[in-house]
Amino acid sequence: MISKRASSISPSLVFSILEKAQKLQASGIDIINFSVGEPDFSTAEYIITAAKKAMDTGKTKYTATGGVEPLRQAICEKLKKDNGLQYSPDQIIVSNGCKQSLDNALACLVDPGDEVILFSPYWLTYPELVKICGGTPVIVECDAANNYFPTAEQLEKAITPKTKVILLNTPCNPSGAVYPEKVIRELAAVIEKTDAYVISDEIYEKLIYDGTKHYSIAAYSKKLYEKTIVINGFSKAFAMTGWRVGYLAASPKIAKAVIAFQSHVTQNINTPAQYAAIEALSNKQGDTVLKQMIAEFKKRAEYLISRLEKMPHISFTRPRGAFYVLIDVTKLGDAFEIASQLLEKAHIAVVPGDPFGAGGTVRLSYALGMEEITKGMNRLEEFLLSCK
Ligand code: PLP
Repeated sequence: MISKRASSISPSLVFSILEKAQKLQASGIDIINFSVGEPDFSTAEYIITAAKKAMDTGKTKYTATGGVEPLRQAICEKLKKDNGLQYSPDQIIVSNGCKQSLDNALACLVDPGDEVILFSPYWLTYPELVKICGGTPVIVECDAANNYFPTAEQLEKAITPKTKVILLNTPCNPSGAVYPEKVIRELAAVIEKTDAYVISDEIYEKLIYDGTKHYSIAAYSKKLYEKTIVINGFSKAFAMTGWRVGYLAASPKIAKAVIAFQSHVTQNINTPAQYAAIEALSNKQGDTVLKQMIAEFKKRAEYLISRLEKMPHISFTRPRGAFYVLIDVTKLGDAFEIASQLLEKAHIAVVPGDPFGAGGTVRLSYALGMEEITKGMNRLEEFLLSCK
C-alpha cells in the first residue's frame, strides 16, 4: 500500500495541464502555452562551454555534499554584493534546484505537528512539501486589493506556539507581487519576537520590473539573519532550469543538519553543472544577458497588461515581478472549468489558481515570445467577448 505520507500529496497541476496541452499539440492543434514556469531564453553559451570544459578536464566525480568550494565561495560573494549578507562557504549548500533546497530546509526544521505559515497566493509546491514533513500548512490570505502583500497584523494573528516556520516568497509565483522593504521590515519585526524560523525563497529576485529593490528579510537584523534560510538558484535569472542548481544559505547549525540530510538523499548535485554555475556567477557578460532578459520580460508584461485591461469579465492585480499574472475569473464561473474551456475552445493553456491558494483565478505565465503572447491575447479576448 502507498504510505499515508505519499497519499497526502497532490501531483503538480502545472505539469498535468502541460501534458494535456502537449497531447492536443501532438494531435496537430496549435496551443499557446501560458502555463509554463520557465524562461524561454536559452542558457548563455559561455555557461554551456564551462560545463563542457569541466567534463573534458575530468570534473566528473563526486564532490563535497554542499558543492565545490569555488562555487560556494562565488555564492557567498553574490549574497554579499546583492543582499548585504555575510556567509562563509560552509553555510552554503548547493542542491538540485531550489526545490530540493526548500525540501532540505523544511525537512531539517519541521517535525510532525509543527505549523508552517504560507502567504496565499503561494507556489503550489510549498504546502505539499510541508505535508511530506508531517507539518501543517497555515494559510494567511493576502488581499489582491493590497497588491497581495501580507500585513504584520495578519501574520501576528496566524502565529501560534506551534509555528515553526514562516515561508516568504518575493517576488512571488503566482501573483507577481514584489514586497517592498517596508512590508518585509514590518513582518520581520513580528517574527523577531517569536521562536519561528523563516524560509525566504528569493528565486525571482532579479526579475523585477518597476524599480522596487529586492530586500532579503535576513538582512533585517542579526536575529533574523540567524533564523532565516535564504533560498535562491540559477533556474530563473540564468535561464538554467534544466541544470538543476539551487542553493540555501543558513546558520552553521542548520547548514550542518542540511548537509547530513542531503548526503543521504542525493549527495552533491551533478559536478559539471557546478562549474557551469561558477561561470554563471563570475562571467561579466552575465549582467548584459540579464539586463536583456529583464527588458524583454518587462516589455511582455506591459503588453499583456495593456491587453488584459481592455478585456471584459476579468480583473487582475498588476504584477511587478517574476513572469506571471493572476486573472480573476469569478464572474465567469469555476476557474478549473474556465481553464479547460480556454484549452479546448480557445486553445490556450493556463493554470487554475486553486492549487496556489488563489481560487477563482487562473495564472498566465508570460515566459513566451511576443508573437505567441499576441496570438494568445487575441484568442483570450475572442473567448471573453463570446462569454455572456
Ligand atoms: N520557488 C518558486 C517560487 C518557483 O516558482 C520555482 C519554480 O518554478 C522554484 C522555487 C523551483 O526552482 P528550481 O528550478 O530552482 O527548483
